[in-house]
Amino acid sequence: MTTPHPRYPHVFSPLQIGTQTVKNRILMGSMHTGLEDQPDAAERLSAYFVERAKGGVGMIITGGIGPHPTAGHGAKLITDEDAAMHARVTQAVHAAAPDVKIVMQILHTGPLAGTPDCVAPSPVKSRIGRYQPNELSEDGIAEQIAAFANCARLAQQAGYDGVEIIGSAGYLISTFLVEKTNQRTDRWGGSWENRMRFPVEVVRAVRAAVGPDFIFVFRISAMDMLQGGLAWDEVVSLAKALEAEGVDVISTHFCWHESFVPTIATMVPRAAFTSVTGRLRKELSIPVITSNRINMPDVAEEVLARGDADLVSMARPMLADADLVNKALEGREDEINTCIACNQACLDHTFTGKLTSCLVNARACRETEITVRPAAAPKRIAVVGAGPAGLAYATIAAERGHRVTLFDAADRIGGQFNLAKQIPGKEEFHETLRYFARRIEVLGIDLRLNTRVDAAALKAAGFDEVIVATGITPRTPDLPGIDHAKVVRYIDVINGTAQVGQRVAIMGAGGIGFDVAELITHQGTSAALDVDVFAREWGVDFKNHPRGGVTGIEPQVARNDREVTLLQRKATPVGQGLGKTTGWTHRLTLQRRGVKMVSGVDYVRIDDQGLHLTVNGEPVVMDVDTVIVCAGQEPARGLYDDLVAAGVPAQLIGGAYEASELDAKRAIKQATELAVAA
Ligand code: FAD
Ligand code: NAP
Ligand code: SF4
Repeated sequence: MTTPHPRYPHVFSPLQIGTQTVKNRILMGSMHTGLEDQPDAAERLSAYFVERAKGGVGMIITGGIGPHPTAGHGAKLITDEDAAMHARVTQAVHAAAPDVKIVMQILHTGPLAGTPDCVAPSPVKSRIGRYQPNELSEDGIAEQIAAFANCARLAQQAGYDGVEIIGSAGYLISTFLVEKTNQRTDRWGGSWENRMRFPVEVVRAVRAAVGPDFIFVFRISAMDMLQGGLAWDEVVSLAKALEAEGVDVISTHFCWHESFVPTIATMVPRAAFTSVTGRLRKELSIPVITSNRINMPDVAEEVLARGDADLVSMARPMLADADLVNKALEGREDEINTCIACNQACLDHTFTGKLTSCLVNARACRETEITVRPAAAPKRIAVVGAGPAGLAYATIAAERGHRVTLFDAADRIGGQFNLAKQIPGKEEFHETLRYFARRIEVLGIDLRLNTRVDAAALKAAGFDEVIVATGITPRTPDLPGIDHAKVVRYIDVINGTAQVGQRVAIMGAGGIGFDVAELITHQGTSAALDVDVFAREWGVDFKNHPRGGVTGIEPQVARNDREVTLLQRKATPVGQGLGKTTGWTHRLTLQRRGVKMVSGVDYVRIDDQGLHLTVNGEPVVMDVDTVIVCAGQEPARGLYDDLVAAGVPAQLIGGAYEASELDAKRAIKQATELAVAA
C-alpha cells in the first residue's frame, strides 16, 4: 500500500472502475471545444488532450461526439473513417500518458440539435431550441438505440478506454425522462417505467456492443432545476436501473439548459451541488462523479473526504491550467491558474459558434499555435503596468528567459482586477491575482510597485524593449454639470471613497455599470460564498429536493432600499451586450432587486434638481442624490506618446492599445500572443 498524500489523501488514491483502475480521483469533464470540427482536428485535439494527460489527471472525458446524423451540428462517430481520426487522438494520449484513461462522450442533442431534422420523443420545442423537433417513430427509436451502440463500438475500435453517455441537460435522452418533453402514450411515454425505457435500452445495447471491460459512464441530471423536472425518487430509480444494466459509473449533472438557475457561473458557490451527489451515492454500489464549480484541489479533497463522491469532475479548471493535478501533487497549488468561472472564453464561445479558449489561459485549445519556447536571444524588457495585460506579458516573457522588470504606479499588482474582485459574485478574481503574484516570485521578475515610471527613466535604463500596458482612463462625458457634487466615478464607488445616496442614476449600462449596480444594491453575504444564500436567491431546495430541485416560489433576493436606475443611450435592451451564458443572471438579479433599466436616453445636464435627460425624446428629470458615471473608457497612452517622442521603441497592449470593448480576455490574449513572439 502506498503512503497517502499528505494534503490530498482522497484525491490521490486509485479507484477501481468496472474492471479498470484510475490512478486518482480527478477527471477532466467533457467540454465541447470546437476543436473536433476543425480540419486538423486530430492534431489539435491530440495536443490539447496530451497536455492535460501529462498534467496528471486520472481520466479525460472528451467533448460530445454525435452517434447519428440527427445528433447536432458537431462531430460524429458513425463510420470506420470517423473512427480513424479518433484513433490518432487516443494513440497520442496513451503514448504520452499510459496511466491516464480517455473516455469519449456520446452526445445526442435531440431537440437542441439546431437543425430542422432534429428529433425528440414528442414534438415539444425547447425554449432555447431553434426548431420544433420531429417525433420519433417506434422504428426511429430503434434506429437511435442502434446508433448509440454503433458509436460506442467504434469508440472502442478507436482505442478509447470507455464511453460516457450524456443523459441530462435537455438533450435527447433526458427529454424521454421528463413528462413536459415526453408526451407519448406508447411504451416510451406515460408512466415512469415507460419514460425510463429509452435510457435503459440504450445502456443495454451499448454494454452488449462493447463487452464488460470497457468503462461505461452515464451522466444523469441529479437535479435538473426545471419546474416539473425529475423527482428525487425518479433520479434514484434511474441510477439504480442503469447500474443494473451494467453502467460502471454514474456522473451527476446539475443542468438543463432551459433552466433559470445558474449552475456554473462565477456567482455559484464552489461545490454547491455536491451534497446531492452524496445523497445519491448512498443509494448505489457503483462509483459516482460530482461536478460544478470545483476549481481547486482543496475543494475536490473536501468533497471526497465528506463522502459526497468517488470522483470529482473538473472541466473548465483544466482549460485554465493543464497542470492543475500535478501542481497539487507536488505541493505547488499556489501556482495553479484558477478557473474564475467567468464563461467568457469557454461557454460564451461555444454557444456563439467560436472556438473555446480560456480568459486566464489564452493557450487553451490553441496548443499547436501558441507555444512558449525559450527565447533565442534573451532581452531586458520593461513592462509598464501590472494589470492583466502587463502580468500576462511579463510572466510569459520571463518564462521564455527574458529578463523582465515590471512597473506599476499602484501599491499592488492587478490593475482593474482589484476593482472587479470587490464586486459580490466576483470573489474568484482574487485567485488570478494570487496566481500572477506567485508567478512573479517563481520567475524572479523584478517587480517595482509604487513606481509611476516615465519616458525619461525608461530611456535612461536602456531596456531592449518597452511594453506599455498602462490600461485606461475612465471616460468623463462632456455634459453640463458633470463636475456637480452629485457626480461620482465608478472607481471611487467601488473603492468606497465616494458617498452614494439613496436614489441613484448610473450613466452607462455596460459590464461595469451592471457590476456597480450589483455592488450598491447588494445586502448581506455574497451568494457566491454561501450555498444557503445561493439557494434562497435562486429558489433551489437542496434539502427536500422537490421536482427538479426548484421550489417554484419567487426567489428571495436580499437587497437594500436604494432606488437605482441603469441608463444607456442605445435603444437596445439594457444588458444585451453582456456575456451570452451569464448576462441573463445579472439582468435577473438586478430586476429582482428592483433596479430599473432604461434605454434610449439622451443626457442633458446635471444640477441640484438631479439628472435631466430625455427618454425616447420625452424630457425627464431624475431627482437623484447620486449620479455614478460608468460611461466606458479611453486608452491611457500618455507614457507611450512620450516614449515615441523620446525615440524609445515601445509596444502597446491591453487597454492602452484599445479601450473600446476591452475586457481581460482580450487583454490577456493579446499579451500572450505578443510575449511568445518576443
Ligand atoms: P489595467 O487593468 O487598467 O491595468 C493598467 C495598470 O497600469 C494599472 O495597474 C495602473 O496602475 C498601471 N499604470 C498606468 N500608468 C502607469 C505608469 N505610468 N507607470 C506605472 N504603472 C502605470 N473584464 C473581464 O474580462 N471580465 C470581467 O468580469 C470584468 N469585470 C470588471 C469589473 C470591474 C469593476 C472593472 C473595473 C473591470 C472589469 N473588467 C472585466 C475589465 C478588466 O479588468 C480590464 O479589461 C483589464 O483590467 C484591462 O487590463 P489592462 O492590463 O489593459 O489594464
Ligand atoms: P462598456 O461595456 O463599453 O460600456 C460603457 C457604457 O457607457 C455603455 O453603456 C455606453 O452605452 C455608455 N457610454 C459610452 N460613451 C458614453 C458617453 N460619452 N456618455 C455616456 N455614456 C456613454 O464599458 P464598461 O462598462 O466600462 O466596461 C469596460 C470593459 O470591462 C467592457 O469591455 C467589459 O467587457 C468589461 N467588463 C466585463 C464584465 C463581465 O462581466 N464580463 C464586467 C465588467 C466589465 P451608450 O453609449 O448606449 O450609453
Ligand atoms: Fe474558467 Fe473563464 Fe477560463 Fe472558462 S474562460 S475556463 S470560466 S476562467
